[in-house]
Amino acid sequence: MKTKFKLKASSEKLLLVSAPWPLYSRPSIQIGTLKAFLRKKFPDLKVDAHHFYLKVAEAIGYRRYQAISERTWLAETVYGALLYPERTDTAEKIFYEQAKGNPLLKKIVFKNLASQVREVSEDFIHSVDWEDTILAGFSICLCQLTASLYLIREVKKRFPDLLIVVGGSVFTGDATRNLFKTFPEINAVVNGEGELPLSRLVSDLRRSRSFGETARVKGIVTPESTENNAASFFNQMTDLSDLSPPDYDDYFDLLQEFSPEKTFFPTLPMEMSRGCWWRRSLVDGESTGCAFCNLNLQWDGYRTKNTLQTVSEIDHLTTKHKTLSVAFTDNLLPLKTSKDIFAGIGKLKKDLLLFGEIRATTPRHILADMRMAGMEKVQIGIEALSTRLLNKLNKGTTAIQNIEIMKHCEALGISNSSNLILCFPGSDQKDVDETLRNLEFTLPFRPLKMVYFWLGLGSPVWRHPGNFGIKAVFNHRNYAGIFPKEVFQSMQFTIQSYRGGLGHQRKLWTPVKKKLKAWKKTYDELHRGSRHENILSFRDGRDFLIIRQKRTPGEHLTHRLEGTSRAIYLFCQEHRSLKRILERFSAVGSDKVVAFLRMMVDKKLMFEENNKYLSLAVPANPNS
Ligand code: SF4
Repeated sequence: MKTKFKLKASSEKLLLVSAPWPLYSRPSIQIGTLKAFLRKKFPDLKVDAHHFYLKVAEAIGYRRYQAISERTWLAETVYGALLYPERTDTAEKIFYEQAKGNPLLKKIVFKNLASQVREVSEDFIHSVDWEDTILAGFSICLCQLTASLYLIREVKKRFPDLLIVVGGSVFTGDATRNLFKTFPEINAVVNGEGELPLSRLVSDLRRSRSFGETARVKGIVTPESTENNAASFFNQMTDLSDLSPPDYDDYFDLLQEFSPEKTFFPTLPMEMSRGCWWRRSLVDGESTGCAFCNLNLQWDGYRTKNTLQTVSEIDHLTTKHKTLSVAFTDNLLPLKTSKDIFAGIGKLKKDLLLFGEIRATTPRHILADMRMAGMEKVQIGIEALSTRLLNKLNKGTTAIQNIEIMKHCEALGISNSSNLILCFPGSDQKDVDETLRNLEFTLPFRPLKMVYFWLGLGSPVWRHPGNFGIKAVFNHRNYAGIFPKEVFQSMQFTIQSYRGGLGHQRKLWTPVKKKLKAWKKTYDELHRGSRHENILSFRDGRDFLIIRQKRTPGEHLTHRLEGTSRAIYLFCQEHRSLKRILERFSAVGSDKVVAFLRMMVDKKLMFEENNKYLSLAVPANPNS
């Protein structure tokens, strides 16, 4: 295995590559941020960031690219067939299975698609000057594995002396085991975030003009360091204020080369933080956080940019690239500083379209600030509508909190695209019954997306399978269709599979699946028409209020609440314990209050959980 490289004296360039299949409509924040950091550190170094996936999207058509990029197995099979041509038939079979029912992929002939993608890749390889390069770095996240491996192999065939460094969420921790033996074209792996290890490596390489046994950089894993069990720790920034705004120039330059009908206004990915404040590392290598989550394996701890930096980066990049759509890539937006950040974004006086991921505990007033600043769409960590199940997921939230934030989004006009996880291992009939009961109350709100649980490498469930009734864990079987047997057996891939209660879980969750479908159908029907009206809304008449409940089929219902009934209903716009309600309305008498609350719950105008109550109707007037 060759790990000693001599660099030419003239090598003063570094290449960063992002292979298919990330979202084509956004530049890669990974290589954009790295480029900006390296350019700041080494002003005389030329850094070319190749957002190559955009070329593939342009070649095969954006709609088709998007359909493929949305599903891991569609994405991984295309380059899988190029990487291992002898396995084309099995890759093709997986592709067609996964493409079933998608009209955008109906007419695709897999082998034609693969050969079209090969041509674009060949053109790309020919168009890049790989010589006189210090190193070529590949950022590899979900859906980019086979494409990156294919490009690396093809480039390395032609330029055997090129130093190849990979990084990204696919190659952290357990995933690097056996990597160098299986893919000898790869010379080093960045474990965790890349800024510090890569800049240190670049600095060493420029000084010594060679890479080999002497290269020992914290955060960089090499064949030698894995043999010696050394240098595999993280090397991450303590303070994100050292970061410059991502450099997306290469992406926008590429887009400008396309014909007018193929250009569009991209979304700018931005980050306010790294890691997740809900997840904490524990001393013994364990961590807290959600049981199914493996999103934070490349970070240690949680760090945020400061308010000023975040706001000025948004201003700078939207002005520079003349686009208004921004997607925050944070696993979880910061909560403590959100108020100031979104107030600051609002003061920019730009009609931004923002997207971000938040926790269900985000208070209404923060959501309102986000909306004012342009938050159009959020993904909330809802995951379940059963508190019993949320405990098993270690989500730290309850069903009533989930329903409350769904309601607030509806009221504020924020599109909530969140998931409901089905078939979580260890879930039981009681979890399903609670979910079904609670789904009776969520009809007025935007339906959740049904996702089946998948086992992520390194997640708490994967690390402690026995706690969740899992008997064995192994690579997902689709990898066996893509990779040769010896690779499948020696590598640990991101998507894992397991044995233990799968069939039972599928059966258990079938009624929830049906109910979710019915919810979506009814929600869509009730929102048909030219005027958007919430399904359950109220108008306040100062000492009475009128609730309007849209129904299908049949007439809509109206309810009038007067005096104290109105006051209680308004008091429970945020969920309140029975104790607090009784204290607040002590003059009325507890029997009357409890009877009223029960009636509201029977009519599905309020939700109750563990003696906590939440009014479900949203103000018909969004300004109230
Ligand atoms: S799912 Fe979200 S909140 Fe939970 S640990 Fe992962 S990133 Fe954090």
